[in-house]
Amino acid sequence: MKSGSTKVPQGDNVTGNVANFHPDEKLVIGLTGGIGSGKSTVAQMFAEYGVAIIDSDLIARELTQVGGAAIAQIHTTFGNAYLDESGALNRIQMRQRIFTDPAAKLQLEAILHPLIRAQMQEALRTQSTFPAHSQHAAPYLMLVVPLLFTATGFRELAHCTLMVDCDEDIQIARVINRDGLDEQTIRRIMAAQTPRAEQLKMADHIIQNNGTLTALQILVQQQHQLYLNVCQKPPRPEIAKK
Ligand code: ADP
Repeated sequence: MKSGSTKVPQGDNVTGNVANFHPDEKLVIGLTGGIGSGKSTVAQMFAEYGVAIIDSDLIARELTQVGGAAIAQIHTTFGNAYLDESGALNRIQMRQRIFTDPAAKLQLEAILHPLIRAQMQEALRTQSTFPAHSQHAAPYLMLVVPLLFTATGFRELAHCTLMVDCDEDIQIARVINRDGLDEQTIRRIMAAQTPRAEQLKMADHIIQNNGTLTALQILVQQQHQLYLNVCQKPPRPEIAKK
């Protein structure tokens, strides 16, 4: 086992669905982790290697902007009170509501998740069709999904999963620093996410982000090399396309 990472596989012995990955397809990695674990930071580091990043939070923001595809349903379900003056989702108001009303949380997820999933599938389709020599061609694709293991139908979009993990006290300190939220609010957000222990159990690979950004960069570089090795594997005769 390598330091800083509890599940880094050896060589190209990659677990998850990668065993069935065909080199003619684009490899798809599902990136997950709790709030403040470092998902966006890690995704940005992979992006610098040319990996195409498809981020569920960014899609959710687009869907809930003025005129976004989720707005009409949100309006019908929750009324005017949850839209701001411009007609976009009032995030602060909605966050308050779903903290205290589990049924409302489910309703919001029932609106957003299928739309996010459909947009991710479309982005995967578009990215996968760039010819290898195109300037847009990425070596592989990465979906960033905080609820990868709990929201229906997302895990299935990826060949394998990568979790960014850090100790809880570091996680909380980073979110306080980034968002200025108080500890109690952060703990409530964490409680609504997939439990850390469950993510650690389910993830194929884990990047530990307790150290410096330089240490993180090294772990990302190692993981990237591993994914490149998988992408560059020659076709196995028994599954080669005719
Ligand atoms: P997430 O996307 O999982 O919510 P972020 O990538 O935004 O988390 O990271 C949370 C905060 O912690 C950000 O402000 C980020 O710059 C910072 N951060 C992440 N990793 C490290 C690190 N290894 N050292 C110092 N700061 C970090």
